[in-house]
Amino acid sequence: MNTIMNNDAHERARNLIAWAGPEALSSADRAWLAAHVETCASCRTFAENAVATIHALRAIPIAAERSLVSTTQMKVRRRALELQSQRERFWLVSVSCTAVTLCALLSTFALWRGFAWVGARAQLAPSIWQVGFLVFCVTPALVAGVLLLLRGTHLADRTGSYEG
Ligand SMILES: [Zn+2]
Repeated sequence: MNTIMNNDAHERARNLIAWAGPEALSSADRAWLAAHVETCASCRTFAENAVATIHALRAIPIAAERSLVSTTQMKVRRRALELQSQRERFWLVSVSCTAVTLCALLSTFALWRGFAWVGARAQLAPSIWQVGFLVFCVTPALVAGVLLLLRGTHLADRTGSYEG
């Protein structure tokens, strides 16, 4: 009779510990549980384990949130750095393009003046040195185009041989 009462008491104590938080218990239940745990070592251990488990469970989402926050912050920082480097690259490309265009214009102008000077010195008709100037200007682009074309067909041949 006494052991049955005790078993019931243990079960009641463990149910109270497992299914209800301390704040959810009535004051009578809480007082009874406190008294039981005071005298019962196994229920005290159970209660301590339950508290530790609840703490561990509560710690998990906090840890997840913290790691989520830190990874999100890291991603945001990385994206900001990416955008910054993209902006810098864009700025660099813009400046380079402007510089190249200016250099090309200046050198073309200088070349034009040079051809005009040579044409005047050689007493050539303007149409002749102007054609010469055009050929001189167009030739590098033509050569570059032909080279790129050759390189392209060469690469196509190589990839073709890899496939075959
Ligand atoms: Zn007990």
